[in-house]
Amino acid sequence: MKNKEIARIFDELGDMLEFLGENPFRARAYKRASQIIYGLPEDIEKLYKSGKLSEIKGIGESIIQKVGEFIDKGKISAYEEYRSKIPEGLLELLSVPYIGPVTLRTLYKTLHITNFDELIKACEDKLIRNLPNFGPKKEENILKGLLRYKEQSFRFPIGLIYDDITKLLEDVKNIPGVIRAEIAGSFRRMKETIGDIDILASGRNTTEIIRDFTKLPTIKEIISEGETKCSVLLLTGMQADLRVVDDNSFGACLQYFTGSKNHNVKLRGIAKDMGFKINEYGIFKGDELIPCPDESIVYKTLGLPWIPPEMREDNGEIELAQKCNLPKLIEYNDIKGDVHVHSTYSDGGESIKAMAEAAIKKGYEYIVITDHSQSLKIAKGLEIERLIRQMEEIDKINRELAPFKIFKGSEVDIKHDGTLDYPDEILKQLDFVIASIHSGFKDDEKKMTKRILNAMENKYVTMIAHPTGRILNARDPYNVNIIEMCKMASKTNTFLEINAYFDRLDLNDINARIAKEYGVKFCIGTDSHNSIQLNMMIYGIGQARRAWLTKSDIINTKNLQEFTEEIKIKRKKF
Ligand SMILES: [Zn+2]
Ligand SMILES: [Zn+2]
Repeated sequence: MKNKEIARIFDELGDMLEFLGENPFRARAYKRASQIIYGLPEDIEKLYKSGKLSEIKGIGESIIQKVGEFIDKGKISAYEEYRSKIPEGLLELLSVPYIGPVTLRTLYKTLHITNFDELIKACEDKLIRNLPNFGPKKEENILKGLLRYKEQSFRFPIGLIYDDITKLLEDVKNIPGVIRAEIAGSFRRMKETIGDIDILASGRNTTEIIRDFTKLPTIKEIISEGETKCSVLLLTGMQADLRVVDDNSFGACLQYFTGSKNHNVKLRGIAKDMGFKINEYGIFKGDELIPCPDESIVYKTLGLPWIPPEMREDNGEIELAQKCNLPKLIEYNDIKGDVHVHSTYSDGGESIKAMAEAAIKKGYEYIVITDHSQSLKIAKGLEIERLIRQMEEIDKINRELAPFKIFKGSEVDIKHDGTLDYPDEILKQLDFVIASIHSGFKDDEKKMTKRILNAMENKYVTMIAHPTGRILNARDPYNVNIIEMCKMASKTNTFLEINAYFDRLDLNDINARIAKEYGVKFCIGTDSHNSIQLNMMIYGIGQARRAWLTKSDIINTKNLQEFTEEIKIKRKKF
């Protein structure tokens, strides 16, 4: 799908027009088109070719013509033309707080600033303050914005910091005088990556609480310290802000700082229509503060049920809440077993038995052992002979650990030609076959999609693992057509995985939500290579909740007996 590529071009076109001081209405039209195209679930190329693009509100004639140009020629001439008028890297500065197109134009015309480093130097040399309409305050703000931007451009995968932040929260709760504390922001919404941490605490003696907070061992450096708020740098390299509020405002503040921004903007609109005002201190009726110790009171006052934080992205959740139609999301303790577990037979670090015993400790009823198949030599993939030996060992351990059950599985490579790495006679003997891509990532969309569809057409393939192959901060998804994959998964009763490994989280929230619309069922697997990694399950559940999935959408929420039946359904239907 070319949707994202096209959306990015229109977004940049808008920026360029604004920067060049051209017609602001056209600039806004490009920006709007960019947002619409970014959110389209269908392939824009198909919509264009079927003439359906014109039915979408906000997509006018001139946009359609440019989309067509891109589809036919791979580029848009207007974009290329503007591009050639603006130095490379200059527009990136528009992402910096305090720098808008007009400011940027002045900086470029007067000081010939074209990139990040030149602008930092100009601030340090105090050149900005002397520009007309700028001054020292604006110079200071720009420098602050630049430094903040530099820090933020790296976002931490949530799984990398989750335990540290949970521990930090415990420490905050233990500070004398703290009544309640919670982590707000994108961490609470379980976003896949986190920029910085917002901590909220309630208590009276605010200055003492803040003083104790700054002395915690996980804090590397104090950035700023006030009466009710302070900012610190954690040992992990993240920034964390603590706010201490009155316990009667705790719910309202928690709601406010959890965001997302778009969710809160919409809520404020609803509040305004009802004659209320919401801000970080609470809900006001005129000048009167409505006490909100609990977050649910904020929603209740606006006539809404409480909305789970993972849903708060203004993706339709407020409208559903207004109709009292919110889905009942999967809960963090709903999982009954892990479906993607490696052992020392391939590249895992612990024995099958050790992994099973760790799963029992977590309260699971079953796991599926899924070591790599023979072609994946770097991961000690199992030749058929060793796979058969593994199956015998599993039978033996199952006799010892009953009623807990280890299912016999494999993570089988989908080879270049779309065939699987074991023959059917072998796959047939396994309870649960994962098919996945570990090579040929660069295949074009047609070929990659065909490889995955082929795998799903095999009656023994139970699930596709990490279906888009992306690695956070490291590798883009491969070129698979999500819609085609979802249709085939649904048609063949093949599950799609939500891989909970901290840097995969694949399917992600957006794709999982699309898949659900096509009737796909999911499993959440941790892809654990040691027993501690079984704990990564929560990140997968977080993604599932962000995708609005319920318990019944996810097969490994079922108990042992139901799960045993579910994984046979595909084979029976074929
Ligand atoms: Zn894999
Ligand atoms: Zn794996």
